[in-house]
Amino acid sequence: MERLYLPQLASGAVAQGATIALDEGQAHYLVRVLRLRKGDRLRAFDGVAREYAAVLADDRPRRVTLEIGVVAREEAPPAFRAVLAQGLAKQDKLDVVIQKAVELGVARVRPFVSRRAVLRLDAAETERRLDRWRKVAAEACRQCGRIRLAELDAPVSFETLLDSALADGPLLLAYEGRDAEPLTAFAASPGARTATLVVGPEGGFAPEEAQTARERGARLVSLGPRILRTETAGPAFLAIVQYLWGDLATGRPATGEEER
Ligand code: SAM
Repeated sequence: MERLYLPQLASGAVAQGATIALDEGQAHYLVRVLRLRKGDRLRAFDGVAREYAAVLADDRPRRVTLEIGVVAREEAPPAFRAVLAQGLAKQDKLDVVIQKAVELGVARVRPFVSRRAVLRLDAAETERRLDRWRKVAAEACRQCGRIRLAELDAPVSFETLLDSALADGPLLLAYEGRDAEPLTAFAASPGARTATLVVGPEGGFAPEEAQTARERGARLVSLGPRILRTETAGPAFLAIVQYLWGDLATGRPATGEEER
């Protein structure tokens, strides 16, 4: 069943039978890309908690509308909120990290700038990338069957990240250096309902940065005996933690068929 992200639905309960006008991008996707026609059925999700049965009510140019039906699925907030803090990386590596992280159930992605980050963004470029990252996250959400969008923050400094993430809960910093703990040290449930997983940029963390993080209460965690690329480390770390504490080990069918 084709799915469409309709932020217009997020305002609250939508009356059954309501007709929603689609914007140009949404209309293009349904009529041109998916080649749906009037009367075709699909699902529309609000990005927060609900997915609705829907029917393409009108497929004429500039008049494309959906008729909204019953709430077909609801998604509760995750019992464990995995947050991935990713050092700013070159080219479109963050697009790949965000896409994989959404598929793995990340709740929030927090890009950050650390000492060895090669990429430096001015305000305009930051806005442009944020817009693109949010589109990548919404598309990954549509593809993998999620209803709740992942939150995407604007990049912050490493120091800002440390302060705010540690205030929220445990901070696990992926560190390939000598002092890192093995992941087996984290096999038991953290007790906390959230944790921030931190992955450095291509150049890694400066030793002082890892030291500062540890002094402020972060745990340095080894991801094994090989050096992972920054775009490998984030998804790998997230998959492990989601298996240990999140929903990857629940065995629930991927169709997300928690039909009402
Ligand atoms: N120091 C690395 C090197 O010598 O090439 C550069 C950093 S690595 C490409 C990018 C990031 O991935 C690191 O900052 C770290 O967060 C994470 N990472 C990569 N391999 C890891 C490992 N074996 N254990 C823990 N973290 C790792």
